[in-house]
Amino acid sequence: MEHIQQDNFMKNYVDYIVVGGGASGCSVTSKLLAKNQSVCLLEAGYSHRNFLLDVPAGFFKIINDSKYVTYHKTIPQKHLGGRQNIIPQGNVLGGGTSINAQVYMRGRSEDYDEWQEILRGNNDSHGWSWKDVLPYFKSMENNSRLDNEYHGSKGALKVSDSIHINELTHDFIKSVNQLGVPLTQDFNGREQKGVGLYQFMNSGGKRSSAAYAFIDPQKNNTNLQLKLQSKVIKIIIENNKAIGVEYKKDNKTFKIFANKEIIISAGSFITPKILMLSGIGNEKELFKHNIKCVANLPGVGENLIDHPECPLIARANGKYGYFKQVQGWRMIKNALEFLMLGKGPVNSTGVEAGAFINPINKNDLAYIQAFFVPSIYINSDTVNFIKDDYGMSITTVMTKPKSRGSVKLQSNNPNDPPIIELNLLKHPDDLKMMIAGQKFFLKALQEGPLGGKVKEIIIPNIKDLDDKKFEIHCKKFVRTNYHPSGTAKMGSDDDKLAVLDSKMRVRGVQNLRICDLSVMPNINSGNTSAPAMMLGLRCGDLILNS
Ligand SMILES: Cc1cc2nc3c(=O)[nH]c(=O)nc-3n(C[C@H](O)[C@H](O)[C@H](O)COP(=O)(O)OP(=O)(O)OC[C@H]3O[C@@H](n4cnc5c(N)ncnc54)[C@H](O)[C@@H]3O)c2cc1C
Repeated sequence: MEHIQQDNFMKNYVDYIVVGGGASGCSVTSKLLAKNQSVCLLEAGYSHRNFLLDVPAGFFKIINDSKYVTYHKTIPQKHLGGRQNIIPQGNVLGGGTSINAQVYMRGRSEDYDEWQEILRGNNDSHGWSWKDVLPYFKSMENNSRLDNEYHGSKGALKVSDSIHINELTHDFIKSVNQLGVPLTQDFNGREQKGVGLYQFMNSGGKRSSAAYAFIDPQKNNTNLQLKLQSKVIKIIIENNKAIGVEYKKDNKTFKIFANKEIIISAGSFITPKILMLSGIGNEKELFKHNIKCVANLPGVGENLIDHPECPLIARANGKYGYFKQVQGWRMIKNALEFLMLGKGPVNSTGVEAGAFINPINKNDLAYIQAFFVPSIYINSDTVNFIKDDYGMSITTVMTKPKSRGSVKLQSNNPNDPPIIELNLLKHPDDLKMMIAGQKFFLKALQEGPLGGKVKEIIIPNIKDLDDKKFEIHCKKFVRTNYHPSGTAKMGSDDDKLAVLDSKMRVRGVQNLRICDLSVMPNINSGNTSAPAMMLGLRCGDLILNS
């Protein structure tokens, strides 16, 4: 039998244990430390200090093959012709915020007012409406351009406009504008719909992740025990009370205990896995794997939501975009320009502009977000179909998908990855909206200044393109936009799939909260880092005020 050690690196008891140092885990930790609580933050991955992670242009370098990324894989997806989606997630302090494309987005007010409605049930003081969460978004934000009703400029998270924009990006904005979409300078203000440049979580060409914003300022705080490359296996529960966790570091197993609470922030795939390995989940599922049930919560691992994305890719009729900018003498020139002057394409994550539209009813809320990339977007799904060249890509993303998937255990062995059923496009309305979004943005590649720089559209094949062919194209290329959420959702008392109450407490187990995207009852419309950090700050207050 394996020998389990008490954690004798440092103190064996802390006030709080936070499992997972990602977007939410870092921000909740900082809130607790600010009130002089002792916290042990256990992170499975590596330190965030790495040049490639810091510079915006590092994004496309690390995304397909890096030790800072865990590549989760779905089971074959029935609605995508049996393909298996690869879903990268951060394996580093800062989690997704240390590896992502840095686009700063919150979603819209209606997202949070919807949560408020979902949580209403028999509890009247749930506190998740837009009015409740906006102060958290503003308090974390250090925006270099905006300081108003919607934005803050004194927070820890640096937000700025990109220093470098490719000319194709301006063409994209003009073309989409000519299609009737209004120009916007701010997707996080009163109105989400529009087309324009994104803002980014960085400053002066350096990433501002949750690790930099929330943990670095605490590095000399003796109340913080930060343990990297420490993978939590399960929660220690006695008499339905969470008292500690077991974790692995350097192939040894350790235990550490909390005087107050344990907060699980390991992301939407691993949070439900840890809960299930600890006996919290659907009793019947746990029984299959010989795990004793501590709390029968059938919602654990259910309600998996992700934003599906689908590409449109075109070859350019000239030397436009970023092709060859990371090769040979151009790479050296760009690196020198960045290091000596802080200028040039190294300042770009490659995703520079976007749009929020409703391609079916322009008077309704936006249900499609678009990302414009001034190069040919090669990933695990497109790699076999295209050759790199001068070109451009638009990905269309469904912001409020109706499809739901699940995360289940493969076995009771913590080393086994979870079974992920992502179910993108399972719901027929999702396919309909995706096709409408694709059709709309295809026009941007065919008309206006952008259309003028297109030699040929490579994906999809536009010859005799009809709805049936669009459907085939979507099934072939739809993939994650990297935002898995919802697998341990907050819900009202009468919701049988609610894992948490509206204070993020696990139902039926004392001293245990969840704090990451898993808690979302429905996904926000737009990228998810800022919402995940907001969840951490809000969770900190809920804990400290309880
Ligand atoms: C490639 C990519 C691009 C993205 N682009 C953007 C973007 O441009 N803008 C945006 O807003 N969002 C973007 N996102 C999404 C955003 O980064 C995530 O939604 C967000 O980080 C999720 O926060 P979280 O706290 O739920 O989980 P995470 O940030 O994933 O944090 C979970 C943490 O738990 C750790 N962990 C896992 N298992 C264990 C364990 N057993 N023990 C201890 N620790 C564990 C992980 O290593 C990780 O650090 C992107 C994400 C990815 C992956």
